[in-house]
Amino acid sequence: MSTDTLVFLGPPGSGKGTHAAMLAKDRGFVQVSVGELLRREVERGSELGLQVREIMNTGALVPDQVVLQVVRRALDGLRGRKIILDGFPRSVAQARMLDGLLEEFRRRVDLALFFALEDRQVIERISGRRVDPETGKIYHVVWNPPPPGVKTVQRDDDREDVVRQRLRIYHEITEPVAAYYRKSGRLVEIDASGGVEHVYSMVLRVIDQA
Ligand code: AMP
Repeated sequence: MSTDTLVFLGPPGSGKGTHAAMLAKDRGFVQVSVGELLRREVERGSELGLQVREIMNTGALVPDQVVLQVVRRALDGLRGRKIILDGFPRSVAQARMLDGLLEEFRRRVDLALFFALEDRQVIERISGRRVDPETGKIYHVVWNPPPPGVKTVQRDDDREDVVRQRLRIYHEITEPVAAYYRKSGRLVEIDASGGVEHVYSMVLRVIDQA
């Protein structure tokens, strides 16, 4: 089976972004982080960015059509490349739309990796999460502190009240996406509660055996 198109699923803070970045580096994938692409639009102050800024700050989902526009643009620039979709799809409706969209690009979701993590750990991880705004690199104040001299910030939507809202939305709307891929035999679940290196060794095992 060729694995050119991967989807990374899981609650916020489950390590999707971290492992997508590592796998991109080690196995030649391009990481397509929809949240990151949206944040860039917000920073640029583009029309699309202005449209989504408030929504993102409350932890709610951005409208499907907006997300789809961003994903289509990314796919168009990545023809022939191996990709990891990180943070998309986030609803069964988006998963269906993605299937249609990928057909246009002669792709299909080969494998969906589901990073399973309990809510308690999500809150613990996200409250310590910091990001280097220049490189997008993710750190944790206790487990993976930034090197000296690297200035990091907390994402607006990583505040605890917003994280709880993101988790509610995750359980209600995003979690069923796992069942969607499970039904078609494309889901692999990974216990994301361990340390980064441990979880990453499981990710590599799955990808290299696929
Ligand atoms: P993330 O960086 O993946 O945690 O995404 C940050 C925020 O971007 C989310 O809380 C949503 O507001 C928005 N977002 C990212 N991906 C999607 C998506 N697939 N559908 C709707 N909104 C999204």
